Amino acid sequence: MPRIIVGKPLLPNKGVELWYRRKLFALVDFMKKAALRELEAPYKELIGEAALDASVSSQMRIRLNKLVIELELKFGSMADDLAAAFVSRVEKQSGFGFRASLSFMLGGDEVLRKAGFLKAGSSMTQPMRETLKAAVAENVALIKSIPEQFVSGLQSKIYQSINQGGGVGTIAKFVQERFKVSKNRAFWLAFDQNNKASAAVNARRMDDAGITKWKWVHTAGSFKPRDYHRDVLNGQVFSMGEVPIADPKTRERARPGFLINCRCVAAPVIEV
Ligand SMILES: [Zn+2]
Repeated sequence: MPRIIVGKPLLPNKGVELWYRRKLFALVDFMKKAALRELEAPYKELIGEAALDASVSSQMRIRLNKLVIELELKFGSMADDLAAAFVSRVEKQSGFGFRASLSFMLGGDEVLRKAGFLKAGSSMTQPMRETLKAAVAENVALIKSIPEQFVSGLQSKIYQSINQGGGVGTIAKFVQERFKVSKNRAFWLAFDQNNKASAAVNARRMDDAGITKWKWVHTAGSFKPRDYHRDVLNGQVFSMGEVPIADPKTRERARPGFLINCRCVAAPVIEV
């Protein structure tokens, strides 16, 4: 029977999540300011008196269109760089974590090098490039979806209010409501994408390093831990290419950290 050595679990880096969250929050703040400037400020002196009538309605359409263009430009110009910077931070921290995990398992860089687990010089493989590219593309799309959802939510609220004879004063309230929704989404986006991108990069890194097995590790960090992950998958060892059933109801297969809000991680396993 080969002896099994388990490395430290490959955890997502909390600092990267906080950094990403901060950047997304700044974009969401920008969005709120732009909306208030475009939609509320022109009517400020009327607040409380004027109804959102037909004349306001056509102006509002023009202003909403202007807002869409402004936000598309802002988010469009930021999304690529922000997503790339985020994924590059994930990759870098994953590298540190991976080395620490193996060092713990095998004892020092020298042993790792001899065992062939640390490649000299550049170790960025083509499959790793593909993994990073996919994570960047996913995040670009998610970042760009923030203003889309914000404006469409705002739009339907405002038009609904116009139809029901609501006052101009409700605009600021709607902006504030939609701002909260967007901020909450940005919070989860940073949390979830950090887990997911880290899990993808770590799986790729283990594969690239020639690790053949990994262990499912449930961590206490999840807001809503899945019983199945905590009680069944936790501690099980799988082959590198194996993707176990992670949801017994839907039979969906996933690696740790891939299902929404899953905080589970993988630990590299070697047999000696
Ligand atoms: Zn989980």
